[in-house]
Amino acid sequence: MSRFLNRSLKALTPYVPGEQPRGEERLIKLNTNESPFPPSPLVLDALSRAEAEKLRLYPDPTCRAAAEAIAREVGVSPAQVVLGNGSDELLAFAFHGFCENGAAFADITYGFYRVFCEMFHVKACVVPLREDYSVRVEDYAGRRETVFLANPNAPTGLSLPLSAVRALLMQDKNRLVVVDEAYVDFGGESAVALLPECENLLVVRTFSKSRSLAGARVGFAVASEALAADLNALRFSFNPYNINRLSLLAAEYAMRDRAYFARCRDAIIENREWTRQQLQERGFTVLESKANFLFAKGPLGGQEYLTALRARGILVRWFSAPRTRDFVRVSIGTRTDMEALIRATDEILREAGHEKGNN
Ligand SMILES: *Cc1c(COP(=O)(O)O)cnc(C)c1O
Repeated sequence: MSRFLNRSLKALTPYVPGEQPRGEERLIKLNTNESPFPPSPLVLDALSRAEAEKLRLYPDPTCRAAAEAIAREVGVSPAQVVLGNGSDELLAFAFHGFCENGAAFADITYGFYRVFCEMFHVKACVVPLREDYSVRVEDYAGRRETVFLANPNAPTGLSLPLSAVRALLMQDKNRLVVVDEAYVDFGGESAVALLPECENLLVVRTFSKSRSLAGARVGFAVASEALAADLNALRFSFNPYNINRLSLLAAEYAMRDRAYFARCRDAIIENREWTRQQLQERGFTVLESKANFLFAKGPLGGQEYLTALRARGILVRWFSAPRTRDFVRVSIGTRTDMEALIRATDEILREAGHEKGNN
């Protein structure tokens, strides 16, 4: 550490992303919830040499074409859509700009919420999940902090029904609720449907998971026009050119290709259910996931299982907190990826002296 960092930021514990291998080793990457499928062919065609030549120009600060494509797909007006450099950037704006009374979120949820609280000096109120890892909406009643709800949640994959999200919003119309829907496309219910009746709602989504654009860094927020305008004011006060030209094009065309999106999503859901069944047959406890990953607890400790998979060229994610340390989080890849995971798991269980389960 240098002597130049602000005293107030010296205790900052940065977010630790999953390993991004350099590519000299052939690894099966099931650790950061990316899509195993390439972006839509429409995206690939849009990223032409001619467009690359336009990189000398700044991108459209209003992100109009992409915002219109998103608005059409989500069923809102373009003025209700704000684009971010990944949804992480929009979440950062929300912590920075909408958390005067602090931020409330679950003990087991997206790890960035804690980091943003430290970064922006927001008081964090951690609300434990139930024993079964579900969210107890009543625990937020009477709390004045801005609520951050990942739905489906990460890393559990559990999803809260729309009726419960609505109840959370209705507890206090003067308290903002940010619903982080990074995984909603894999089987959750979007809170966007509640926007007409809830002005205290900010929905944040991403192109990183279900639209195969993690490397492009594009996310979007959907809210009332007034809230979207506030978010845009924050964006224009930080970086009006926060999305580069190529990523804007990629986002626009990824949204337009509805058929390709649906095919990829359906394949992920099918592979998820197949993998869940395979793991359960081998004695794993697997939480019911509405995301593109599974949270699974096996006969081995989480870290042991992660290490044994790593030795076989398969990357998964492990979180060391007491309530999560018995589990690993496995992103859903292609069927071939998942078959390799199950084969490796059989080997690992055999070597550890565990039988394959009763089936
Ligand atoms: C992946 C993820 C994000 C961040 O996505 P980007 O758009 O890539 O920044 C946000 N929230 C949750 C819960 C995530 O898992």
